[in-house]
Formats: sequence, structure tokens, C-alpha cells
Amino acid sequence: MRLARLDDLSVDRVVGLRESLNLMSEILSEGGVKGNVVVEGSRVKGNVELYWALRRLGARLVPVASSDVKGLFTPLEYLGFYDEVVPDRYRVYGDSEELLYRNWPTPIVGLRSLSGDGFRVWAKLEFYNPFSNSIKDRIGWYMFKRTMEEGWSGPRILYEATSTNTGIALASISAIYGFKAKLFLPATVQRASDVLLKALGAEVVRVPKRITVEFVDDVDREAKKSGSLHLNQFENDANFEVHLRYTAKELDYQLSGAGIRPKAIIGGIGTSGHLSALTFYFKSRTRNAIRIYAVQPKPGDTIPGIRRVESGMKWIHWMDVDGIIDVSRDEALSEMVSLARREGLLVGMSSGAVIAAFKKLVEEGLQDGDYILVFPDHGCKYVEQLSEYLSRKG
Ligand code: PLP
Repeated sequence: MRLARLDDLSVDRVVGLRESLNLMSEILSEGGVKGNVVVEGSRVKGNVELYWALRRLGARLVPVASSDVKGLFTPLEYLGFYDEVVPDRYRVYGDSEELLYRNWPTPIVGLRSLSGDGFRVWAKLEFYNPFSNSIKDRIGWYMFKRTMEEGWSGPRILYEATSTNTGIALASISAIYGFKAKLFLPATVQRASDVLLKALGAEVVRVPKRITVEFVDDVDREAKKSGSLHLNQFENDANFEVHLRYTAKELDYQLSGAGIRPKAIIGGIGTSGHLSALTFYFKSRTRNAIRIYAVQPKPGDTIPGIRRVESGMKWIHWMDVDGIIDVSRDEALSEMVSLARREGLLVGMSSGAVIAAFKKLVEEGLQDGDYILVFPDHGCKYVEQLSEYLSRKG
């Protein structure tokens, strides 16, 4: 047996994400890989499932041999499993794309104002991503990169339905790669988004609907008519995969490095990409010792970026979350303002919703230990909602 660089191997069969889940879960919970990929030269000839599981998990190396080797176990650490999420020491980047994917992990900060007797709260700050100041940079980059790797020969025009953040991420990536972005926003989203997107060179179309999923099929039809690229964040498995390979793995790397073993992770659901991947990764890695809570707006309320699970999402239905917590728009705004005034951190509305949900868990009674909140974006995009809220509540 030897270790080969995964990128040096060629393979002629694709094993899909859904089919890879069981094996990936086993690898994460065992902390390593049983067996090996069978190769002839650099061609994968057998155990192609293992190759795809390791590729989706972002291992740098793969155990290979010319036949099945019995009784082999290779720990994750030997496979360069964490290499991609180790921070660069000097933080000097060659270009703006590298500034995104080589600057991870995003920071985790302890929040004193939310911590209590016996429990500590940590927030993962996704507004440290450079383009949209949000978690959506990750999917914008990865969905685009994957499509380019597969070979895109259509027009350099990209369509997407977005509530802003994915739009900004894709407008930035489009600017870098010389694409034209045409972005479709629901009527409920703040006006400032149009300006930000246009400044990044995108065309903006407002659709008289409340949430993006109500018109994603129309966007798909429009894109197909002109042969344009529609990455479709709601269906594209690269959304789930980027959060598995980077967001979840870097969080694991950070927490284990800091000696933190979280009792639960709490996050919002929009496409469900990030929370589904965190659920899959941490439930597997901890053998179900962790609890995961999803946050959605209460019926009838809108909170930008998140929506109710029954409005239709892909990956969350593959997972077992421990609870789904309803939060009102005013609760989200109130927690957003309260955090700003106690910790000096102005986070976005969906982050406010995550705090409100966490407080509901505290009211029900919490186990002692550490709790992780995922804050998807920054508060600067929500000036309009904030000014309306502050004029009412002060
Ligand atoms: N919060 C904000 C501000 C968002 O923009 C989004 C997604 O658009 C989310 C939360 C939800 O993230 P996901 O799509 O990974 O479920």
C-alpha cells in the first residue's frame, strides 16, 4: 500500500453525493479509512466509492494498492485530511479568489453576554468572508469552480435567484472570471441590495414574490432559453459539499484545537446547505453525541436568508436534526440590536434569529457545556430593517 495524491488519480465513474453519504459517515466516525482504492498506474480500477468519499471530504491523499489489502486502516491525519483548513501563516494572497479559500477558517468568538452559569457560547463569524461578507461566498465560489472544472462552454452569463448574499458572492466571482451575472431578487429584500449588486457589475431583476424558491423554476427556464449558466443554489450538491469539506471540517479543526467539545450547534436554514453539512459531519464525527437545532421564521414572518422548512429544501431532509425552532422577525431584530450593544458586533438578521432560538433553548434548560451558533452575515446590509425597527423600539 502507498499513499497517492488524490488529484493525480483518474477515474471514469462518478459516485453521487447521496450514494457517498454512508461511507463518508463511516470514515468520519471511525476517524480513518478501512481498505484502499485499487489502482493500475494512476487509474482507479476498484473501490471507486472510497475514492469519491475521500474526494468529497477533501482528503489530499488516498491509500492505494494494485489489489484489495486486507485489514488496512489509515487514520484521517495521514491523509492530509485537514490540510485545506489550516490557516496560512502570513496571510498574503496572490489574488482575490485566494483571499477567499485560503483565508479560512473564519473566526470563532466567545460571547460573554450570551454565556451563563455552566455554559459557554461561541459564534462562528461568517461575515469574515471577503465578497458578500457572508457564508454564501463559500457556495458561490465552489458551485462556480465545480462547473468550470466540468467544462463550461456556454455563454459567460450566469443567472441565479437570491435573497442577496449568494447574489453578491456570484457577482464577485463573475467579475473575477469575466462573466455577466443576472440576479433575481424577491420583493421583500432591502433596496440596498440592488445598489451593491449593480456596483459589482450585475444586472438585477426584482420579482414580485416573497421568497426566492417561489420563482427559482422561472429563473431556470429563463437561463435554459438563452443557454446561460444557472448554478441553482437550492439543488446544486456543491452547496452541501463545500460546507462539508470546508465549513464543517474547519469548525472541527478549530474546536478540537481549542479543546472545545460542543453540546450543540444552532444555525438558520435557507437552502439548508450549511446546517445540513454541519449536521452530517458532526453527527458522524461524534457518533451522535452532539445536538443540532435548525432555526426558521415563524409562520407569516420574513427574515432575510432563512425560511420555513416546509417551503422545500433538499439536504435537510436527509438529516436528523434534534429540533426546529421558530423565531419572529422582531425577535431576530431585537437580538441583533442587543448583541451589538453588549458585544459591539453588528451581525445580520438571521444571526439575530439564531440567538433568539438559542435563548429559547436556555429557557427550556440547557446541559452544561459549550454551544456553537453560526452567524451567516454582517448587519450592514440591514440598515433599512434596522432603521424601521429602531424608529419603533428605540
Ligand atoms: N442567513 C443568511 C443571511 C443567508 O443569506 C442565508 C442563505 O441565503 C442563510 C442564513 C441560510 O443559509 P443556507 O442557505 O446554507 O441554509
